[in-house]
Amino acid sequence: MGMTDLALEKAVDPQQRSYLETVKLSADSLLSLINDILDFSKIEAGQMELDEHPFILAEAVEAAIRTVSVLSKEKGLDIAIDISLELPKVVEGDSLRFRQIILNLLSNAIKFSEKGPIRVLVTPEKIGPESVAVRVAVIDRGIGIKADKIGAIFSAFSQADSSVSRKFGGTGLGLAICRQLCELMDGTISVQSEHGKGATFTFIVIFGLTAEEPPQKKKIDTAVVEAIRLQPVRVLLVEDNPANRFLLRVVLEKFQHQVTEAVDGVEALHILLEDDRFDLIITDVQMPRLDGYSLTRIIRRCEQDELLDKETADKLENNSLSERLRSRLRGRHRLIIAMTANAMSGDQEKCFNAGMDDYLTKPIDKVQLAATLKRWLPGG
Ligand code: ADP
Repeated sequence: MGMTDLALEKAVDPQQRSYLETVKLSADSLLSLINDILDFSKIEAGQMELDEHPFILAEAVEAAIRTVSVLSKEKGLDIAIDISLELPKVVEGDSLRFRQIILNLLSNAIKFSEKGPIRVLVTPEKIGPESVAVRVAVIDRGIGIKADKIGAIFSAFSQADSSVSRKFGGTGLGLAICRQLCELMDGTISVQSEHGKGATFTFIVIFGLTAEEPPQKKKIDTAVVEAIRLQPVRVLLVEDNPANRFLLRVVLEKFQHQVTEAVDGVEALHILLEDDRFDLIITDVQMPRLDGYSLTRIIRRCEQDELLDKETADKLENNSLSERLRSRLRGRHRLIIAMTANAMSGDQEKCFNAGMDDYLTKPIDKVQLAATLKRWLPGG
């Protein structure tokens, strides 16, 4: 997907552009399908954990609506939103998963409607001393659902009838995920619909009440990133996947940075032995031979002039290597930034425990990369 973006930046021929736009659209829908399947299997396996924190309720609802605004405009459907003033402004819960439920319902409402408006009503179902039950209704005036199909649509891979997938696409996973997410948040989801007259999906989830304010989000948009000027730096890029490596090299070189590549931790260490003048090491975490965590641990121990533990030393397959590394690396802290495949909190902790300074989450985009480098490197 990153490569397609890069190609689109260069392509001038209208036909080439339209091919690339199609590649991008298809990749997007494949990615969302994969994400759905992963979410679904994670919940089924009992592995889905909520990431709870204070957030502004209205912001989460508005963010979901913003995400579908292009789609709704394309179909000429207005989305009206009404959030009850009786609700607390800040609640504690998993804002991303809450947003995901609304997003799913809104995408369906847009997909199955020709005329609007689509309404989103957010009201308190019950406010207790420590928690609030929030009710969200997404109301559309679309094709509706036949009475005999209503019972099935919350099951995985189920669609109202077989013509749906041909006509509207989709997999029938969205509502099953919504139902499971609602249950994880101690809530429920239901639908009322009359065939031909639209549908109203209503869900209730429980959030904690909190006096804590959510942290201010630092907004960095693309325009700002273009303006971020960094002195060109030397980067050691450690990544086993050739496509990711190539993409990151192109993006880094666009910012005038100089890139040296290594395909795994062992190669990175050999490069460091030869030449240690890097301002920054960006490393993948999962790699064959020597992964990013072990690579970082080795570098940190050598910096401290400490001996490697046996398990780590064994991974080097070469005893004299660790000796030479120690004398080469000791005395100076190297900036190490990890690239992790997902933003799950456990991964971040593992990175910090291994001694990494920061992390980037994949897929890595320009904005994220520039913002992270800006945090660590001197400006120009
Ligand atoms: P998908 O949208 O991928 O088909 P979902 O699980 O989100 O899967 O929805 C399952 C089915 O429920 C849809 O295929 C459609 O038949 C029906 N459905 C969902 N939302 C609506 C809606 N707003 N209006 C009419 N039918 C709907």
